[in-house]
Amino acid sequence: MNQPLDTPPPWRTASHGRCPAAAAKDPTPCEGPRDAATIVDRHGRESAGCVHHCARLLAGLEGARVHPFVPAPQALDVYSRARELPPFAWEIGR
Ligand SMILES: [Zn+2]
Repeated sequence: MNQPLDTPPPWRTASHGRCPAAAAKDPTPCEGPRDAATIVDRHGRESAGCVHHCARLLAGLEGARVHPFVPAPQALDVYSRARELPPFAWEIGR
């Protein structure tokens, strides 16, 4: 009950507070703005997120692509990162 005021509340840590593109099992933190890019899967479902998690999502989703409205620099960043990643990178500790 006497916790210092600068201790973050528990819901602000771990998987919470990350962008929607972050997989629940992916332990990595966000990188940059959390709405930097949007991934569209082959069924047309959209998922906005940071460049880091969009790339990881893209690497594991067959037929997925970056939303055409995403500015070219961010889209290229997501694609070039995804190309270097195995699908579901966090399962092998990356
Ligand atoms: Zn993220």
